[in-house]
This record gives sequence, structure tokens and C-alpha cells, in this order.
Amino acid sequence: MYDYLVVGSGLTGAIFAHEARKRGKSVLVIEKRTHIGGNIYTQNINGIHVHSYGPHIFHTNNKFIWEYMNSFAEFNRFTNTPVANYKGEIYSLPFNMWTFNKMWGVITPGQAREKIELQKLEAGITTPQNLEEQAISLVGRDIYERLIKGYTEKQWGRPCSELPAFIIKRLPVRFTYDNNYYNSQYQGVPVEGYTAIIERMLDGIEVRTECDYFTHREELDGLAQNIFFTGQIDEYFGHILGTLEYRTLRFETEILTATDNYQGSAVVNYTDRETPFTRCIEHKHFYPGLETAGTVITREYSSEWREGDEPYYPVNNLKNNTMFEKYCELARRECPNVIFAGRLGEYKYYDMDAAALRALELVIQEFGKL
Ligand code: FAD
Ligand code: UDP
Repeated sequence: MYDYLVVGSGLTGAIFAHEARKRGKSVLVIEKRTHIGGNIYTQNINGIHVHSYGPHIFHTNNKFIWEYMNSFAEFNRFTNTPVANYKGEIYSLPFNMWTFNKMWGVITPGQAREKIELQKLEAGITTPQNLEEQAISLVGRDIYERLIKGYTEKQWGRPCSELPAFIIKRLPVRFTYDNNYYNSQYQGVPVEGYTAIIERMLDGIEVRTECDYFTHREELDGLAQNIFFTGQIDEYFGHILGTLEYRTLRFETEILTATDNYQGSAVVNYTDRETPFTRCIEHKHFYPGLETAGTVITREYSSEWREGDEPYYPVNNLKNNTMFEKYCELARRECPNVIFAGRLGEYKYYDMDAAALRALELVIQEFGKL
């Protein structure tokens, strides 16, 4: 018997398992994929840490979380400055004075604000009700149409007018010449890749990969008193209250030998509707100054999740959030010994820092203090 069965070896599960073990608890971690790490998994290809499930940049304003993560790994000074490619024209991201200058030729913040105010007025938006209205009121119609509409509709598979405003509020809008994608005080990528962090967190803990909870449910339930579950909450309950929606991704990775610098940036977003992928990442640029022969790139394609696909993004609209709340009520009523956590267990668009913080909150809830 184990004190805890941890389902999922992503960041959330790994932190909980690590902290439980530190407190003398016996822990079994199971993972349905062939490797640990969940979506932050990186693998070394030709001397480059390849982010296998999309670009992962750790960024946070929380000093405690930054130090916590740094206790498992050294981070480099990478600052995310992705560029947008709209039909062959390059724009700076996030939306800042460089973007406004390229779009309208404006020079000063005052001129940029005036332009945005005018376009917002023309659109007649007072209180933004959805992503489209939120975007136009933040950056004006021109930027919405070139840099947001196509990308967002590819990413989410829904019209911007049917998406929640909060998604676009993840990106800063700045009236300074500053291409840093994040406002966070701390930012970087682990020098040895993310997998090394998870390996350290799980050091000394029994881990079974290629083990799907649902295939061995009865046996696994009999092995532990408590379950820390980071899979899909709706799947746990056999979709009894309905199936939550997710977005899935397809990653197309290419090893290039004819060039050692394919696109000059770690991340390039293709913001038109026609290019079938959303972004292309060139992994070596996450490590400024890294010199290698050749390079590795990954194109990312987004589509609607179906049973059997990997669920990457929860679709947090009203319908799904309401269904999720009902699952939470069911969980409270029927399984007090199961903790649902992480992007899938809590159906939340958690970044790594938020996922780590939440995992530590659950540790406190379970064990009293950190
Ligand atoms: P996951 O990483 O999804 O881990 C859950 C694990 O549970 C998986 O390994 C899964 O295989 C396993 N599992 C599920 N069901 C079962 C089952 N039935 N049996 C056994 N195992 C199971 N965050 C940032 O801070 N910065 C970024 O730049 C960033 N970029 C991102 C880019 C993409 C494309 C995506 C998808 C996410 C990004 N994130 C980023 C978010 C980050 O990936 C998450 O915050 C983090 O992975 C959450 O970890 P988790 O453990 O909750 O979930
Ligand atoms: N977005 C956009 N154009 C871009 C980049 C982002 O319209 O060039 C929108 C898109 O809706 C996306 C959201 O902003 O889902 C949040 O972007 P972020 O880069 O944070 O997405 P993630 O890292 O979660 O993929």
C-alpha cells in the first residue's frame, strides 16, 4: 500500500509527489505517456533541448515560486520576444510601440493611443463582452485583424466573438518600445531542459510510465489510500455529466542540417488564417549563444480535441466552466480521498508558475505547512 497514488507526472504531479515524499509519505506515480514531465517534457536532439510539446518559457512575479523552481535547476536569461509573420510582413509582439510604428507609422505613445481610441470609437465598444471586442478596445481594429483574429481562430477553432475576453488579456499591451512578451519579473528556461527538473523532483520515487490509470483502475485504487489526480476530471467520472471540450495540438518537428539558423527567433507566430499552423519554434534560440551544426524546428497545429487525442488546452467558456463546477460538486460528494489538480484536473489554463503555486497550495492543504 502507498499513502498516495499520483496520476500524471507533469509539473503538478511531480511537485506534489516530491513534497509528499519529503514528509515521509510513500508515493507511487503513474504516467500514461512513455516519459515523465507531461507537457513540459524536453528531449535532447543534437545538443539542443527540444520542447516536445510547444514553447515553454518559465516566467513569474512570484519570488518564492522562482526560487522554488531554481532549487531544482539553473535557469538561463532567455527573454521571450516572439515575432508575428502576417503574410510575409513581420510585426513585433507583444503589442507595443514597435508594433504600432510598423502598423501605422506612429512615433510617440500619444499618437498610438489616439489611433487606438479612434478605432475603438468607430467599433462602438464600451464594455467588451468577448475576445473580439476586448482586442479591438485594447489595440484597435487593424492589429486585431492582422495579428489576432486569424491566429486566435486557428488556435481556438471558434470565432473571436464567441471566446472569453480573458484569453487576450494574457498578452501585455505596452506604450513603450519593449518586445518582452511577459511583464514578469523573473523569466528563463532551464539550462539542462525541463525534464531534468522533473527527474530531480521524482528522485527516489517509484514511477511507472506507459500506465494509464483507466486501464488499471481497480488494481491502482486498491494500492493507495489517497489519489492525487492530474488527468481529465470528466474522464475520471466516465463523462457522466457530459464531456468537457479541449483543444489538441499536433507538433511537426524537423531536424535541419542545411542551416544553423532557420528563422532568427525562438518563436514566430503565423497570424494569418491561411497558414495552417499557428507558430513555428526554433529550439536552439531558447539558449542564447548556443552554437550547433544544424537546427531543430517545430510547427504547431491546433484542432478540436476528440476522444483519444492529447488534451492540451481547456476551453474555458461558460458552458464548460459550468459543467466543470458540477464535476467539482460530484468530486466533493463522492470521493473525498481524491485531489483533482493541474490543467486537466482543475480545467484551468494554468501557466507553469500558477500550476506550481497551486500544487504547493494543495500540499499545504494536505499536510499543514510547507
Ligand atoms: P500536464 O503537463 O498536462 O501533466 C498531466 C500528466 O498527466 C501528463 O503527463 C499526462 O500524460 C498524464 N495523464 C493524464 N491522464 C492520465 C491517466 N489517465 N493515466 C496516467 N497519466 C495520465 N506555461 C508557461 O508557464 N509558459 C509557457 O511558455 C507555456 N507554454 C505552453 C505551451 C503549450 C503548447 C502548452 C500546451 C502549455 C504551455 N504552458 C506554458 C503551460 C504548461 O504546460 C502547464 O502549466 C503545465 O504543463 C501544467 O502541468 P500539469 O502537470 O498540470 O499538466
Ligand atoms: N494571440 C494572438 N496573436 C498572437 C499571439 C497570441 O491573437 O500572435 C492570442 C491568442 O488568442 C492566444 C492568446 O493571445 O490564445 C494568448 O497567447 P499566448 O501566447 O499566451 O498563448 P499560449 O502560450 O497559451 O499558447
